[in-house]
Amino acid sequence: MKYIRLIPILVIAAATAMVQLPLAAQTDNSKPQPPAESKSFDLSAIDKTADPCTDFYQYACGNWIKTNPIPSDKTRWQRSFAVLSERNRYLLWQELEAAAKAPKTPLQKQYGGFYAACMDTDTVESKGLTPIQPAWKQIATLSKAKQLPKLLSDLENGGSPDGFFNFGVGIDEKDSSKQIAEIFQGGISLPDRDYYIVDSPRFKGIREQYIAHVTKMFTLAGDTAEQAAKEAAAVMEIETAMAKASTSRTELRQPENRYHIYTVVDFEKLAPNFDWSAYFKGTGIGHFDTLNVATPNYFTALNGLIQSEPLDSWKSYLRWHVLHGQASSLPKAYFDENFAFFSKTLAGQAEPEARWKQCSSMTDRALGEAVGQDWVKQNFPPAAKDSMDKLVAALEKSLGDDIKTLPWMGEDTKKAAEEKLAMIRNKIGYPEKWRDYSSVKVDPKDLIGNLHHAFVYERNYDNAKLGKPVDEKEWGMSPPTVNAYYSPSFNDINFPAGILQPPFFDASIDPAVNFGGIGVVIGHEMTHGFDDQGAKYDGKGNLRQWQTDADLKAFKDRTECIASEYSGFEAAPAKGDAPAVNLNGHLTLGENTADNGGLRIAYMALLDTLAAQSKTIKDIIDDYTEAQRFFIGFAQVWCMNQTDGIARQLVLVDPHSPGKWRTNGSVQNFDEFGKAFGCKQGQPMYPANSCRVW
Ligand SMILES: [Zn+2]
Repeated sequence: MKYIRLIPILVIAAATAMVQLPLAAQTDNSKPQPPAESKSFDLSAIDKTADPCTDFYQYACGNWIKTNPIPSDKTRWQRSFAVLSERNRYLLWQELEAAAKAPKTPLQKQYGGFYAACMDTDTVESKGLTPIQPAWKQIATLSKAKQLPKLLSDLENGGSPDGFFNFGVGIDEKDSSKQIAEIFQGGISLPDRDYYIVDSPRFKGIREQYIAHVTKMFTLAGDTAEQAAKEAAAVMEIETAMAKASTSRTELRQPENRYHIYTVVDFEKLAPNFDWSAYFKGTGIGHFDTLNVATPNYFTALNGLIQSEPLDSWKSYLRWHVLHGQASSLPKAYFDENFAFFSKTLAGQAEPEARWKQCSSMTDRALGEAVGQDWVKQNFPPAAKDSMDKLVAALEKSLGDDIKTLPWMGEDTKKAAEEKLAMIRNKIGYPEKWRDYSSVKVDPKDLIGNLHHAFVYERNYDNAKLGKPVDEKEWGMSPPTVNAYYSPSFNDINFPAGILQPPFFDASIDPAVNFGGIGVVIGHEMTHGFDDQGAKYDGKGNLRQWQTDADLKAFKDRTECIASEYSGFEAAPAKGDAPAVNLNGHLTLGENTADNGGLRIAYMALLDTLAAQSKTIKDIIDDYTEAQRFFIGFAQVWCMNQTDGIARQLVLVDPHSPGKWRTNGSVQNFDEFGKAFGCKQGQPMYPANSCRVW
């Protein structure tokens, strides 16, 4: 597992970095149904009793919010992302089901077998804990702390990631032509370090429930109540120490805070109680002399812990990570207990997703480019790619125009910004070259074995990049994914086939709605190259200041305006003993900057497009001007409902703002919105003073 440096347009709420998507252990016999589709422009979603100048999100989405409660198997329900994801997954399921029953190609045999193993709950039940026993036996042989490096690499080689830390290969932040070894903090099971550290009644309660959950899991696995309680206490003690030594997500957003090149020799001096060379060698990665130690403080603390914690505590910790890491693929009793704590208690999900949904997602995660090859043949017409090429070109032009006319930036910096913009590469739909999964062993009767093989394949694929040239054509998302991302080191924007359809993009609708939908998504990704994080990299993807000092200062003043504005927005209202929480303006700064810039440049691109067709922004379709349709189309991408639990979790872990603020924050910083809806200056959505970066 390595630290992911892609910047996606949204986080998938059900699967945070630390929590595996839960798998329903009970068999779901209900026949999967083709899901509803969301329209690109939906008059029935609008709440006409709301004033667009006071709360535009309520106006554009209010009726949808009222009539679309969160389904019982979700924590978050969005009119665009979630509904389309359900549709794509249904299409994927049809493909998997057919491949499981009657595969026609070796590829279909492989992903069909993977899916079938996941659906075969009878076999999962009959195996019990057998699939994790080899790992537990290895842990039981630990007799001194010196053996930890070998044990960790052995566990990983068997497909059971161990916790402790995240090691892998990444692009060198200062030389994007190089792929180097990297090591990051890790080791905790709760979604963020704050869950262990924050002193509030809510977090104290969660910690007590977590200890009870760990105890219950060990009891299910056959330990006595006394043993299980002792083990849970050890897990909590070690994870709390790891959480305290961790760098916060907000600090980690800044690349300089996660870039510390060490020689292996110096790294071994930093944390001498762990034989790093033995561990690296054990994983099978090639030789290297230097690596990026992203979070040195964490490894200093880990070094102390290795000495201070008794061996029995480490055994408990490792046993827990093996059990927890695979809980959602074990028999029903383990699945249910895992779901009850991580999904229900923490995130507010009422019930697990149907087994077919879980297994479709799991196969997509493990063998994404295998299933994706067939998926795009069925679901991604070449015309969609041509339309996207045109839209991307229109957005590139308007970002270039925007840079030229920025009031706060000097000529030298403008020239450098234009150069960086010209170097952004576009990837649309799916990879030119598919990854070869033929070496991943799949057995339709062995779910956990398949997961282990997929893990080791992925780990080896990643480790093999060490010292090799960067493959600029590689993708970080599978084709059916409803998402998009920018990568600062690649300086590229990526749009999987899954998002290039209604409600984001609709060939049959007027350009205003498409520019408000997919146009803003494209603009958002481009702007990431110039947000507070992306702007630290040059066009080649190297960390390097390319702005003049004066322009950099002006840039920081402007991004701080956005940070303090969004810190004033409420992310979850008070509930029970939990007080209201506001957004973290610095954690969400890059995304908010990209939302603001994306909206502006998509609007500019729309003006150009309408002018080329001899139309204007004031033309009326169905009672709304083109300008109004653009903003409503934009807002309706973000209509959503979410549980209180997930709102509170995401405010800590998600760099994106919730739909309400992605909408209202963006429009209130863009005067064209107030003009389009005839607002009076001074109203909430048309303030006299607003923030603007791009
Ligand atoms: Zn983004």
